[in-house]
Amino acid sequence: MSERVRQAQVGIVGGGPAGMAAASALAARGRSVVVLDEGQRAGGQIFRQLPPGVAPPAGVSEPPSHDHGHELIDAFEGAQVELVSGATVWDSKPGRLWFEHAGESHLLECERILLAPGAMDRCIPFPGWTLPGVTTAGALQVMVRGFGVKPGRRALVVGSGPLLLPTVTALLAAGVEVVAALEASSRWNALRALPGVIGNGARLREAMWYMKQLVRAGVKLRWGWTVLRCEGDRHVERAVIAKVDGQGRPRLGTERTIEVDVVGAGFGLVPAIELGLLLGCDSRHLAARGGHCLVVDEQQRTTIDGVFAAGEIGGIGGAEVASAEGALAAAAIDHSLGGPAVSEPLVKQARAERRASDAMLRAFAPLPGLYQLANDDTIVCRCEDVPLSEARAAAELHGRSSRAIKVGCRAGMGPCQARICGPSLQQLATADPACEMDVPVVRVPVKPVRASTIVNAPG
Ligand SMILES: Cc1cc2nc3c(=O)[nH]c(=O)nc-3n(C[C@H](O)[C@H](O)[C@H](O)COP(=O)(O)OP(=O)(O)OC[C@H]3O[C@@H](n4cnc5c(N)ncnc54)[C@H](O)[C@@H]3O)c2cc1C
Repeated sequence: MSERVRQAQVGIVGGGPAGMAAASALAARGRSVVVLDEGQRAGGQIFRQLPPGVAPPAGVSEPPSHDHGHELIDAFEGAQVELVSGATVWDSKPGRLWFEHAGESHLLECERILLAPGAMDRCIPFPGWTLPGVTTAGALQVMVRGFGVKPGRRALVVGSGPLLLPTVTALLAAGVEVVAALEASSRWNALRALPGVIGNGARLREAMWYMKQLVRAGVKLRWGWTVLRCEGDRHVERAVIAKVDGQGRPRLGTERTIEVDVVGAGFGLVPAIELGLLLGCDSRHLAARGGHCLVVDEQQRTTIDGVFAAGEIGGIGGAEVASAEGALAAAAIDHSLGGPAVSEPLVKQARAERRASDAMLRAFAPLPGLYQLANDDTIVCRCEDVPLSEARAAAELHGRSSRAIKVGCRAGMGPCQARICGPSLQQLATADPACEMDVPVVRVPVKPVRASTIVNAPG
Protein backbone atom coordinates (compact mmCIF):
# COMPACT_ATOMS: atom_id res chain seq x y z
CA MET A 1 0.00 0.00 0.00
CA SER A 2 1.35 3.45 -0.93
CA GLU A 3 1.93 5.75 2.03
CA ARG A 4 -0.43 8.20 0.34
CA VAL A 5 -3.28 5.68 0.65
CA ARG A 6 -4.54 4.90 4.12
CA GLN A 7 -7.41 2.81 5.38
CA ALA A 8 -9.94 2.98 8.20
CA GLN A 9 -13.34 1.54 8.94
CA VAL A 10 -14.82 5.02 9.12
CA GLY A 11 -13.70 8.21 7.37
CA ILE A 12 -15.14 11.44 8.78
CA VAL A 13 -15.04 14.79 7.00
CA GLY A 14 -15.06 17.54 9.61
CA GLY A 15 -13.76 17.80 13.16
CA GLY A 16 -16.53 20.07 14.50
CA PRO A 17 -19.07 19.06 17.15
CA ALA A 18 -20.73 16.53 14.80
CA GLY A 19 -17.48 14.91 13.64
CA MET A 20 -15.88 14.93 17.11
CA ALA A 21 -18.92 13.41 18.85
CA ALA A 22 -19.14 10.70 16.19
CA ALA A 23 -15.42 9.92 16.18
CA SER A 24 -15.17 9.57 19.98
CA ALA A 25 -18.25 7.32 20.11
CA LEU A 26 -16.98 5.13 17.27
CA ALA A 27 -13.55 4.80 18.83
CA ALA A 28 -15.19 3.81 22.13
CA ARG A 29 -16.89 1.01 20.19
CA GLY A 30 -13.54 -0.18 18.90
CA ARG A 31 -13.84 1.15 15.33
CA SER A 32 -10.83 2.55 13.47
CA VAL A 33 -11.57 6.18 12.59
CA VAL A 34 -9.77 8.85 10.57
CA VAL A 35 -11.04 12.43 10.75
CA LEU A 36 -10.06 14.82 7.96
CA ASP A 37 -10.33 18.55 8.66
CA GLU A 38 -9.08 21.63 6.86
CA GLY A 39 -8.48 23.40 10.16
CA GLN A 40 -5.32 23.12 12.19
CA ARG A 41 -7.04 21.85 15.35
CA ALA A 42 -10.23 20.04 16.27
CA GLY A 43 -13.28 22.06 17.31
CA GLY A 44 -14.96 23.13 14.06
CA GLN A 45 -16.44 26.59 13.71
CA ILE A 46 -18.03 27.11 17.10
CA PHE A 47 -15.33 25.53 19.29
CA ARG A 48 -12.47 26.85 17.19
CA GLN A 49 -9.15 26.64 19.02
CA LEU A 50 -6.30 29.12 18.65
CA PRO A 51 -3.11 27.73 17.09
CA PRO A 52 -0.69 26.24 19.65
CA GLY A 53 1.30 28.99 21.34
CA VAL A 54 -1.21 31.80 20.63
CA ALA A 55 -2.75 33.06 23.88
CA PRO A 56 -6.40 34.21 23.95
CA PRO A 57 -6.96 37.92 24.62
CA ALA A 58 -6.92 38.74 28.34
CA GLY A 59 -10.27 38.69 30.11
CA VAL A 60 -12.02 36.47 27.59
CA SER A 61 -14.94 34.59 29.02
CA GLU A 62 -16.85 31.91 27.18
CA PRO A 63 -20.56 31.18 26.81
CA PRO A 64 -21.98 28.17 28.71
CA SER A 65 -22.10 26.07 25.51
CA HIS A 66 -18.32 26.06 25.44
CA ASP A 67 -18.26 23.80 28.53
CA HIS A 68 -19.83 21.19 26.28
CA GLY A 69 -17.25 22.10 23.63
CA HIS A 70 -14.37 21.45 26.04
CA GLU A 71 -15.91 18.10 26.98
CA LEU A 72 -16.20 17.15 23.31
CA ILE A 73 -12.63 18.21 22.55
CA ASP A 74 -11.21 16.43 25.64
CA ALA A 75 -13.06 13.21 24.76
CA PHE A 76 -11.96 13.49 21.13
CA GLU A 77 -8.33 14.18 21.95
CA GLY A 78 -8.29 11.32 24.45
CA ALA A 79 -9.85 8.84 22.02
CA GLN A 80 -8.10 6.42 19.68
CA VAL A 81 -8.87 8.58 16.65
CA GLU A 82 -6.50 9.76 13.95
CA LEU A 83 -7.08 13.43 13.13
CA VAL A 84 -5.46 14.61 9.91
CA SER A 85 -5.57 18.39 10.30
CA GLY A 86 -4.90 20.73 7.39
CA ALA A 87 -6.50 18.10 5.13
CA THR A 88 -8.82 19.39 2.39
CA VAL A 89 -11.21 16.79 1.01
CA TRP A 90 -11.76 17.63 -2.67
CA ASP A 91 -13.32 14.49 -4.17
CA SER A 92 -15.27 11.49 -2.97
CA LYS A 93 -16.91 8.29 -4.09
CA PRO A 94 -18.59 5.80 -1.74
CA GLY A 95 -15.80 4.31 0.39
CA ARG A 96 -13.17 6.78 -0.83
CA LEU A 97 -12.14 10.28 0.20
CA TRP A 98 -9.43 12.11 -1.71
CA PHE A 99 -7.69 14.90 0.15
CA GLU A 100 -4.76 17.30 -0.04
CA HIS A 101 -2.46 17.40 2.96
CA ALA A 102 0.84 19.28 3.26
CA GLY A 103 0.85 19.82 -0.51
CA GLU A 104 0.51 16.09 -1.24
CA SER A 105 -2.36 14.13 -2.75
CA HIS A 106 -3.84 11.40 -0.50
CA LEU A 107 -6.65 8.86 -0.49
CA LEU A 108 -8.55 7.46 2.47
CA GLU A 109 -10.29 4.15 1.82
CA CYS A 110 -13.03 3.42 4.31
CA GLU A 111 -16.04 1.17 4.74
CA ARG A 112 -18.28 4.03 5.85
CA ILE A 113 -18.18 7.78 5.30
CA LEU A 114 -19.60 10.36 7.70
CA LEU A 115 -20.01 13.83 6.22
CA ALA A 116 -19.86 16.54 8.90
CA PRO A 117 -18.45 19.54 7.00
CA GLY A 118 -20.65 22.18 8.64
CA ALA A 119 -21.84 25.36 6.98
CA MET A 120 -20.81 28.58 5.24
CA ASP A 121 -21.79 32.20 5.75
CA ARG A 122 -24.70 33.46 3.66
CA CYS A 123 -23.74 36.67 1.85
CA ILE A 124 -26.39 39.16 0.75
CA PRO A 125 -24.64 41.86 -1.29
CA PHE A 126 -25.08 45.57 -0.56
CA PRO A 127 -23.19 48.55 -1.99
CA GLY A 128 -19.67 48.58 -0.58
CA TRP A 129 -19.67 44.96 0.67
CA THR A 130 -16.48 44.27 -1.27
CA LEU A 131 -14.50 47.11 0.38
CA PRO A 132 -11.55 45.94 2.49
CA GLY A 133 -12.66 45.87 6.13
CA VAL A 134 -16.12 44.56 5.24
CA THR A 135 -16.37 40.83 5.77
CA THR A 136 -18.79 38.14 6.85
CA ALA A 137 -19.59 37.72 10.53
CA GLY A 138 -18.14 34.20 10.40
CA ALA A 139 -14.88 35.43 8.90
CA LEU A 140 -14.50 37.96 11.73
CA GLN A 141 -14.89 35.12 14.21
CA VAL A 142 -12.27 33.09 12.37
CA MET A 143 -9.85 36.03 12.53
CA VAL A 144 -10.41 36.68 16.22
CA ARG A 145 -11.00 33.20 17.61
CA GLY A 146 -8.97 31.17 15.16
CA PHE A 147 -5.90 33.38 14.72
CA GLY A 148 -5.98 35.88 17.59
CA VAL A 149 -6.15 38.81 15.14
CA LYS A 150 -7.71 42.14 16.15
CA PRO A 151 -9.45 43.16 12.90
CA GLY A 152 -9.83 46.92 13.61
CA ARG A 153 -10.87 49.52 16.17
CA ARG A 154 -14.56 50.33 15.60
CA ALA A 155 -16.90 47.67 14.30
CA LEU A 156 -20.44 47.39 13.01
CA VAL A 157 -22.04 43.94 13.22
CA VAL A 158 -25.06 43.51 10.99
CA GLY A 159 -27.26 40.77 9.60
CA SER A 160 -29.72 38.30 11.00
CA GLY A 161 -29.70 35.23 13.20
CA PRO A 162 -28.03 33.79 16.31
CA LEU A 163 -24.50 34.15 14.90
CA LEU A 164 -24.51 37.94 15.40
CA LEU A 165 -24.17 37.69 19.17
CA PRO A 166 -21.02 35.50 19.20
CA THR A 167 -19.52 37.85 16.62
CA VAL A 168 -20.11 40.85 18.89
CA THR A 169 -18.64 39.10 21.95
CA ALA A 170 -15.63 37.84 19.98
CA LEU A 171 -14.89 41.41 18.83
CA LEU A 172 -15.32 42.79 22.34
CA ALA A 173 -12.95 40.16 23.69
CA ALA A 174 -10.37 41.20 21.10
CA GLY A 175 -10.61 44.81 22.32
CA VAL A 176 -12.65 46.11 19.37
CA GLU A 177 -15.29 48.75 20.10
CA VAL A 178 -18.62 47.52 18.71
CA VAL A 179 -20.45 50.73 17.80
CA ALA A 180 -23.63 49.02 16.68
CA ALA A 181 -25.18 45.55 16.39
CA LEU A 182 -28.07 45.46 13.93
CA GLU A 183 -30.52 42.56 13.63
CA ALA A 184 -32.73 42.91 10.52
CA SER A 185 -35.53 40.83 11.98
CA SER A 186 -37.99 42.72 14.17
CA ARG A 187 -38.21 42.15 17.91
CA TRP A 188 -41.74 40.79 17.35
CA ASN A 189 -40.56 38.39 14.70
CA ALA A 190 -37.84 37.21 17.05
CA LEU A 191 -40.44 36.44 19.70
CA ARG A 192 -41.38 33.50 17.46
CA ALA A 193 -38.04 32.03 18.43
CA LEU A 194 -38.99 32.00 22.11
CA PRO A 195 -40.57 28.52 22.22
CA GLY A 196 -37.31 27.06 20.93
CA VAL A 197 -35.31 28.95 23.55
CA ILE A 198 -37.59 28.70 26.58
CA GLY A 199 -38.24 24.99 26.04
CA ASN A 200 -34.52 24.29 26.09
CA GLY A 201 -32.58 25.20 29.24
CA ALA A 202 -29.16 25.20 27.54
CA ARG A 203 -30.31 27.58 24.81
CA LEU A 204 -31.96 29.89 27.33
CA ARG A 205 -28.78 30.08 29.43
CA GLU A 206 -26.77 30.75 26.28
CA ALA A 207 -29.07 33.58 25.13
CA MET A 208 -29.00 35.16 28.61
CA TRP A 209 -25.19 34.98 28.72
CA TYR A 210 -24.86 36.82 25.40
CA MET A 211 -27.39 39.49 26.34
CA LYS A 212 -25.51 40.05 29.63
CA GLN A 213 -22.22 40.53 27.76
CA LEU A 214 -23.81 43.10 25.45
CA VAL A 215 -25.37 45.02 28.35
CA ARG A 216 -22.08 44.97 30.25
CA ALA A 217 -20.21 46.38 27.24
CA GLY A 218 -22.94 48.95 26.55
CA VAL A 219 -23.71 47.50 23.09
CA LYS A 220 -27.34 47.91 22.16
CA LEU A 221 -28.80 45.26 19.86
CA ARG A 222 -31.07 47.17 17.48
CA TRP A 223 -33.92 45.08 16.09
CA GLY A 224 -35.29 45.95 12.64
CA TRP A 225 -32.16 47.73 11.41
CA THR A 226 -29.66 46.93 8.67
CA VAL A 227 -26.82 48.37 6.62
CA LEU A 228 -27.65 50.24 3.40
CA ARG A 229 -24.11 50.76 2.15
CA CYS A 230 -20.48 50.96 3.19
CA GLU A 231 -18.25 53.76 1.97
CA GLY A 232 -14.57 54.60 2.05
CA ASP A 233 -11.47 55.19 0.01
CA ARG A 234 -9.68 51.81 -0.34
CA HIS A 235 -11.04 50.69 3.06
CA VAL A 236 -14.35 50.97 4.81
CA GLU A 237 -14.57 54.29 6.67
CA ARG A 238 -18.28 54.61 7.29
CA ALA A 239 -21.54 52.69 7.02
CA VAL A 240 -24.98 54.06 6.29
CA ILE A 241 -27.59 52.17 8.29
CA ALA A 242 -31.39 52.37 8.35
CA LYS A 243 -34.49 50.88 9.93
CA VAL A 244 -36.25 48.19 7.87
CA ASP A 245 -39.87 47.12 7.74
CA GLY A 246 -41.11 43.59 8.51
CA GLN A 247 -40.02 42.47 5.03
CA GLY A 248 -36.52 43.88 5.40
CA ARG A 249 -37.15 46.91 3.12
CA PRO A 250 -35.37 50.09 4.27
CA ARG A 251 -37.60 52.80 5.73
CA LEU A 252 -36.81 56.07 4.01
CA GLY A 253 -35.80 58.90 6.29
CA THR A 254 -34.29 56.70 9.01
CA GLU A 255 -30.74 56.64 7.57
CA ARG A 256 -27.78 57.30 9.86
CA THR A 257 -24.08 57.34 9.12
CA ILE A 258 -21.59 55.80 11.52
CA GLU A 259 -17.82 55.79 11.35
CA VAL A 260 -16.33 52.31 11.45
CA ASP A 261 -13.27 50.50 10.16
CA VAL A 262 -14.69 46.96 10.40
CA VAL A 263 -18.08 45.65 9.28
CA GLY A 264 -19.16 42.05 9.88
CA ALA A 265 -22.27 41.10 7.90
CA GLY A 266 -23.88 37.76 8.71
CA PHE A 267 -27.20 36.90 7.10
CA GLY A 268 -27.30 33.36 8.42
CA LEU A 269 -25.57 30.19 7.28
CA VAL A 270 -25.89 27.82 4.34
CA PRO A 271 -25.30 24.04 4.72
CA ALA A 272 -22.09 22.85 3.01
CA ILE A 273 -23.60 20.04 0.95
CA GLU A 274 -21.12 19.85 -1.96
CA LEU A 275 -19.47 16.56 -0.96
CA GLY A 276 -22.87 14.97 -0.40
CA LEU A 277 -24.05 16.06 -3.86
CA LEU A 278 -20.84 14.78 -5.40
CA LEU A 279 -21.53 11.38 -3.81
CA GLY A 280 -25.01 11.41 -5.34
CA CYS A 281 -26.94 11.99 -2.09
CA ASP A 282 -30.42 13.54 -2.32
CA SER A 283 -31.01 17.04 -1.02
CA ARG A 284 -34.09 19.14 -0.28
CA HIS A 285 -34.69 22.85 0.09
CA LEU A 286 -35.65 23.99 3.58
CA ALA A 287 -35.55 27.80 3.77
CA ALA A 288 -35.61 27.97 7.57
CA ARG A 289 -32.65 25.56 7.79
CA GLY A 290 -30.54 27.66 5.44
CA GLY A 291 -31.40 26.34 1.93
CA HIS A 292 -30.50 23.06 0.28
CA CYS A 293 -29.86 20.42 2.96
CA LEU A 294 -28.77 16.81 2.63
CA VAL A 295 -31.62 14.35 3.17
CA VAL A 296 -31.00 11.97 6.09
CA ASP A 297 -33.29 9.41 7.70
CA GLU A 298 -33.93 8.90 11.43
CA GLN A 299 -30.48 7.31 11.79
CA GLN A 300 -28.49 9.94 9.85
CA ARG A 301 -28.21 7.70 6.76
CA THR A 302 -28.14 9.59 3.47
CA THR A 303 -29.74 8.16 0.34
CA ILE A 304 -26.39 6.61 -0.68
CA ASP A 305 -25.39 3.32 0.91
CA GLY A 306 -22.53 3.60 3.40
CA VAL A 307 -22.69 7.41 3.51
CA PHE A 308 -23.98 9.14 6.67
CA ALA A 309 -24.28 12.85 7.47
CA ALA A 310 -24.56 14.86 10.69
CA GLY A 311 -24.66 18.49 11.79
CA GLU A 312 -25.19 21.59 9.65
CA ILE A 313 -24.99 19.64 6.37
CA GLY A 314 -28.50 18.37 7.12
CA GLY A 315 -29.72 21.90 7.88
CA ILE A 316 -28.50 24.70 10.12
CA GLY A 317 -29.14 23.80 13.74
CA GLY A 318 -26.18 24.75 15.96
CA ALA A 319 -23.71 22.80 18.05
CA GLU A 320 -26.24 20.92 20.20
CA VAL A 321 -27.91 19.48 17.11
CA ALA A 322 -24.54 18.70 15.55
CA SER A 323 -23.16 16.76 18.54
CA ALA A 324 -26.43 14.87 19.13
CA GLU A 325 -26.56 13.88 15.45
CA GLY A 326 -22.88 12.95 15.49
CA ALA A 327 -23.46 10.56 18.43
CA LEU A 328 -26.50 9.11 16.66
CA ALA A 329 -24.62 8.69 13.38
CA ALA A 330 -21.83 6.87 15.24
CA ALA A 331 -24.31 4.37 16.66
CA ALA A 332 -25.91 3.87 13.24
CA ILE A 333 -22.54 3.39 11.54
CA ASP A 334 -21.46 0.93 14.23
CA HIS A 335 -24.72 -0.99 13.75
CA SER A 336 -24.20 -1.07 9.97
CA LEU A 337 -20.79 -2.64 10.63
CA GLY A 338 -22.27 -5.38 12.80
CA GLY A 339 -22.60 -3.59 16.16
CA PRO A 340 -25.70 -3.43 18.37
CA ALA A 341 -28.93 -1.72 17.30
CA VAL A 342 -29.21 2.05 17.70
CA SER A 343 -30.73 2.98 21.06
CA GLU A 344 -33.97 4.95 21.07
CA PRO A 345 -32.73 7.72 23.47
CA LEU A 346 -30.04 8.73 20.95
CA VAL A 347 -32.68 9.11 18.23
CA LYS A 348 -34.99 11.04 20.56
CA GLN A 349 -32.21 13.37 21.72
CA ALA A 350 -31.20 14.29 18.16
CA ARG A 351 -34.81 14.87 17.10
CA ALA A 352 -35.52 17.01 20.19
CA GLU A 353 -32.48 19.22 19.48
CA ARG A 354 -33.60 19.64 15.84
CA ARG A 355 -37.14 20.62 16.90
CA ALA A 356 -35.79 23.25 19.29
CA SER A 357 -33.44 24.76 16.73
CA ASP A 358 -36.05 24.70 13.94
CA ALA A 359 -38.39 26.67 16.19
CA MET A 360 -35.67 29.24 16.80
CA LEU A 361 -34.42 29.58 13.22
CA ARG A 362 -37.85 30.17 11.72
CA ALA A 363 -37.68 33.65 13.25
CA PHE A 364 -34.48 34.49 11.36
CA ALA A 365 -35.20 33.30 7.79
CA PRO A 366 -33.69 35.86 5.34
CA LEU A 367 -36.11 38.75 4.80
CA PRO A 368 -36.99 39.34 1.10
CA GLY A 369 -36.35 43.10 1.27
CA LEU A 370 -32.66 42.52 2.01
CA TYR A 371 -32.21 41.35 -1.58
CA GLN A 372 -33.07 44.92 -2.66
CA LEU A 373 -30.06 46.47 -0.97
CA ALA A 374 -27.79 45.88 -4.00
CA ASN A 375 -27.95 48.38 -6.88
CA ASP A 376 -27.02 47.90 -10.56
CA ASP A 377 -23.31 48.49 -9.92
CA THR A 378 -23.03 46.27 -6.84
CA ILE A 379 -20.76 43.30 -7.46
CA VAL A 380 -22.71 40.08 -6.92
CA CYS A 381 -19.98 37.60 -7.90
CA ARG A 382 -16.72 38.84 -6.46
CA CYS A 383 -14.53 36.11 -8.02
CA GLU A 384 -15.55 37.11 -11.56
CA ASP A 385 -16.40 40.79 -10.81
CA VAL A 386 -19.99 40.53 -12.06
CA PRO A 387 -22.24 43.48 -11.21
CA LEU A 388 -25.95 43.02 -10.52
CA SER A 389 -26.91 44.64 -13.85
CA GLU A 390 -25.05 41.90 -15.77
CA ALA A 391 -26.57 39.11 -13.69
CA ARG A 392 -30.05 40.59 -14.35
CA ALA A 393 -29.35 40.85 -18.10
CA ALA A 394 -28.17 37.23 -18.11
CA ALA A 395 -31.34 36.05 -16.37
CA GLU A 396 -33.50 37.98 -18.83
CA LEU A 397 -31.67 36.67 -21.88
CA HIS A 398 -30.85 33.09 -20.87
CA GLY A 399 -33.38 32.14 -18.18
CA ARG A 400 -33.90 32.08 -14.43
CA SER A 401 -31.99 28.92 -13.60
CA SER A 402 -28.64 29.23 -11.82
CA ARG A 403 -27.00 27.51 -14.78
CA ALA A 404 -28.49 29.97 -17.27
CA ILE A 405 -27.36 32.93 -15.19
CA LYS A 406 -23.90 31.43 -14.82
CA VAL A 407 -23.52 30.81 -18.53
CA GLY A 408 -24.78 34.30 -19.33
CA CYS A 409 -22.44 36.30 -17.09
CA ARG A 410 -19.86 33.92 -15.51
CA ALA A 411 -21.25 34.53 -11.99
CA GLY A 412 -20.30 31.51 -9.88
CA MET A 413 -17.49 30.34 -12.17
CA GLY A 414 -14.59 31.60 -10.07
CA PRO A 415 -12.45 29.83 -7.48
CA CYS A 416 -15.13 29.89 -4.76
CA GLN A 417 -17.31 27.80 -7.09
CA ALA A 418 -20.40 29.86 -6.19
CA ARG A 419 -20.05 29.24 -2.46
CA ILE A 420 -20.23 33.01 -1.87
CA CYS A 421 -22.60 34.25 -4.59
CA GLY A 422 -24.59 31.05 -5.25
CA PRO A 423 -27.00 31.16 -2.29
CA SER A 424 -28.31 34.62 -3.31
CA LEU A 425 -27.58 34.78 -7.06
CA GLN A 426 -30.94 33.59 -8.37
CA GLN A 427 -32.93 35.84 -6.01
CA LEU A 428 -30.86 38.84 -7.08
CA ALA A 429 -30.68 38.13 -10.82
CA THR A 430 -34.40 37.40 -11.13
CA ALA A 431 -35.38 40.18 -8.69
CA ASP A 432 -37.54 37.52 -7.06
CA PRO A 433 -36.51 36.71 -3.47
CA ALA A 434 -39.08 33.90 -3.37
CA CYS A 435 -37.82 32.19 -6.54
CA GLU A 436 -37.33 28.45 -6.49
CA MET A 437 -33.64 27.78 -5.97
CA ASP A 438 -31.82 25.20 -8.07
CA VAL A 439 -29.74 22.51 -6.40
CA PRO A 440 -26.11 23.71 -6.70
CA VAL A 441 -24.08 22.10 -9.47
CA VAL A 442 -20.90 20.62 -8.02
CA ARG A 443 -17.73 19.63 -9.76
CA VAL A 444 -14.41 18.15 -8.72
CA PRO A 445 -12.50 19.61 -6.96
CA VAL A 446 -15.16 20.76 -4.50
CA LYS A 447 -12.54 22.91 -2.75
CA PRO A 448 -9.59 24.68 -4.40
CA VAL A 449 -6.51 22.41 -4.41
CA ARG A 450 -3.28 22.30 -6.41
CA ALA A 451 -3.45 20.94 -9.97
CA SER A 452 -0.71 18.47 -8.94
CA THR A 453 -3.04 17.13 -6.22
CA ILE A 454 -5.60 16.22 -8.88
CA VAL A 455 -3.07 14.88 -11.38
CA ASN A 456 -1.28 12.77 -8.74
CA ALA A 457 -4.42 11.51 -6.99
CA PRO A 458 -3.80 7.95 -5.81
CA GLY A 459 -6.23 5.19 -6.74
C1 LIG B 1 -17.48 30.84 10.12
C2 LIG B 1 -18.49 30.27 11.12
C3 LIG B 1 -18.45 30.64 12.47
C4 LIG B 1 -19.37 30.12 13.38
N1 LIG B 1 -19.33 30.51 14.70
C5 LIG B 1 -20.29 30.08 15.56
C6 LIG B 1 -20.35 30.51 16.92
O1 LIG B 1 -19.50 31.28 17.36
N2 LIG B 1 -21.35 30.08 17.72
C7 LIG B 1 -22.30 29.21 17.25
O2 LIG B 1 -23.20 28.83 17.99
N3 LIG B 1 -22.25 28.77 15.99
C8 LIG B 1 -21.30 29.19 15.14
N4 LIG B 1 -21.30 28.76 13.85
C9 LIG B 1 -22.28 27.78 13.48
C10 LIG B 1 -21.61 26.42 13.57
O3 LIG B 1 -21.37 26.00 12.26
C11 LIG B 1 -22.38 25.34 14.30
O4 LIG B 1 -23.02 25.77 15.42
C12 LIG B 1 -21.56 24.11 14.66
O5 LIG B 1 -20.18 24.39 14.72
C13 LIG B 1 -21.85 23.07 13.62
O6 LIG B 1 -21.12 21.92 13.86
P1 LIG B 1 -20.73 20.95 12.66
O7 LIG B 1 -19.94 19.86 13.31
O8 LIG B 1 -21.92 20.60 11.87
O9 LIG B 1 -19.82 21.81 11.70
P2 LIG B 1 -18.52 22.70 11.95
O10 LIG B 1 -18.33 23.06 13.35
O11 LIG B 1 -18.61 23.78 10.94
O12 LIG B 1 -17.33 21.71 11.55
C14 LIG B 1 -17.11 21.33 10.24
C15 LIG B 1 -15.65 21.11 10.01
O13 LIG B 1 -15.49 20.53 8.72
C16 LIG B 1 -14.34 21.04 8.12
N5 LIG B 1 -14.50 20.91 6.66
C17 LIG B 1 -15.51 21.40 5.89
N6 LIG B 1 -15.34 21.03 4.61
C18 LIG B 1 -14.20 20.31 4.57
C19 LIG B 1 -13.49 19.67 3.51
N7 LIG B 1 -13.92 19.67 2.25
N8 LIG B 1 -12.33 19.04 3.83
C20 LIG B 1 -11.87 19.00 5.11
N9 LIG B 1 -12.51 19.59 6.14
C21 LIG B 1 -13.66 20.23 5.88
C22 LIG B 1 -14.22 22.47 8.61
O14 LIG B 1 -12.86 22.88 8.63
C23 LIG B 1 -14.83 22.38 10.02
O15 LIG B 1 -13.83 22.27 11.01
C24 LIG B 1 -20.37 29.24 12.92
C25 LIG B 1 -20.41 28.87 11.57
C26 LIG B 1 -19.49 29.38 10.67
C27 LIG B 1 -19.59 28.96 9.20
